[in-house]
Amino acid sequence: MHQYIGGGLRTGSSGVVHHVTNPADGTTVTDLVLGDERDADQAVAAARAAYPEWSRAAPVERSAALHRLAGILDQRAREFAETESRQAGKPIRLTTGFDVPGTVDNTAFFAGAARHLEGRACAEYSGDHTSAIRREPIGVVASIAPWNYPLQMAAWKILPAVAAGNTIVLKPAEITPLTALMFAQACTDAGIPDGVVNVVTGRGPVAGEALLAHPDVRMVSFTGSTPVGRRVMEIASRTVKRVHLELGGKAPFVVFDDADLEAAVHGAVAGSLINTGQDCTAATRAYVHRSRFEEFVAGVADLYASVKLGDPMDPATDLGPLVSHKQRDSVAGFVERARTHGAEIVVGGQAPGGGLAAGAYYRPTLVTGAAQDSEIVQDEVFGPVLAVLPFDTDDEAFTLANDTPYGLAASAWTRDHHRALRAVREIAAGCVWINDHIPIISEMPHGGYKASGFGKDMSSYSFEEYTQVKHAMHDITGVARKPWHRTIFEL
Ligand code: NAD
Repeated sequence: MHQYIGGGLRTGSSGVVHHVTNPADGTTVTDLVLGDERDADQAVAAARAAYPEWSRAAPVERSAALHRLAGILDQRAREFAETESRQAGKPIRLTTGFDVPGTVDNTAFFAGAARHLEGRACAEYSGDHTSAIRREPIGVVASIAPWNYPLQMAAWKILPAVAAGNTIVLKPAEITPLTALMFAQACTDAGIPDGVVNVVTGRGPVAGEALLAHPDVRMVSFTGSTPVGRRVMEIASRTVKRVHLELGGKAPFVVFDDADLEAAVHGAVAGSLINTGQDCTAATRAYVHRSRFEEFVAGVADLYASVKLGDPMDPATDLGPLVSHKQRDSVAGFVERARTHGAEIVVGGQAPGGGLAAGAYYRPTLVTGAAQDSEIVQDEVFGPVLAVLPFDTDDEAFTLANDTPYGLAASAWTRDHHRALRAVREIAAGCVWINDHIPIISEMPHGGYKASGFGKDMSSYSFEEYTQVKHAMHDITGVARKPWHRTIFEL
């Protein structure tokens, strides 16, 4: 499996062999030959050729194909979960309990959404015309995805696009391409016509930029880091493509003095360690009322120390490795620099030895004493690291929560209904949880404010983003000389 173009697997044109590596032990899962601009061209041509028929298929046909796809994904759930765990180092409990069932549910959701393309208006607004709104697909969509949830990101990009009648070329992250290729194959098996879903594996600056610049691509949907998002926007602007950006996050986790501390501690541990902290909505900065600070830090430190690192394929494992040794070294670098600048590492701050030494593991790490303007509080670490800072007043908590360039997600922990409502209003983020952190559902949108981007994934909001609005205006008078002509000529 290298590239999936026009309904079939083929090798990449670059001749560059990439070893997909299991980060748990450094072994090679498989080798593939990466694609380059030639593969991007072929995939766009296949998507363009498939567009007329797919875009005109009755919604019920697209819906039926997606329902069949949901069934196939469900039947192959174990195979998807194991491949995802091997290529990304995710614990098998996470892939079987979250990544794969979430993808099946998303597929079923968009199978339903495919039959709900609605225009908002149909009326005689001018008195002399009937105006109607049509929602139409956009054309060939190019999507570029990150490595942290390879299967779910492929699904979040492909499903709304094809449900709305577009065709797509997806470029997954080069280090985790396997489940996206399997997903594309499953689309064909479900009866989705050849060329509707294509996958080009390759490097961002090569295959990715070729897609962004391609004149036949009408929309670009990107999930990844904010710096690459800026580049995506810049290249897409040259050919005026629609741009959809889901970028980085630095989610605050605000614990007020009246919070249920046991719930907040458990929520912080689960919310910061999910996917080994490589989650754009993960809890990364806990702001805790000064009166509960010590209690919170002690509770999180105890639970962090009890988390079991291990083989991702072992159902007893809580925490797997990071996605790569490079990512592990990046996380360790953030922690070391924080330590050098006076922060205290309460637990963690190191890689485990022994049987895990060959993997990209890093212990859950709790940091106190970091300054609000320090790197570890401001920048995305993307690892199992939580910084905890104290606050004294509600207003101070909201100010601190909003004091990064990001605005993807946040949570507030309180038993006070009014305070909870104020937190939702005051925190600038695309999602604010109250007394929880992380849950997502297919029916609700996921997407950011500020430097976390714009555009929504999942939900009917995402479905609509993959359509364009057309106003159709019909004259209903049959009059040759219309009154408004007099503003142009008097005859
Ligand atoms: P990344 O930005 O490095 O890469 C993302 C994708 O972009 C990859 O497929 C990569 O090959 C490609 N790419 C890189 N340079 C490119 C270029 N010049 N042109 C075109 N494509 C290019 O991100 P990553 O390290 O893979 O993933 C982690 C990042 O993704 C984090 O910042 C995280 O917050 C973000 N993320 C956001 C969401 C969200 O929904 N907002 C979800 C998951 C991950």
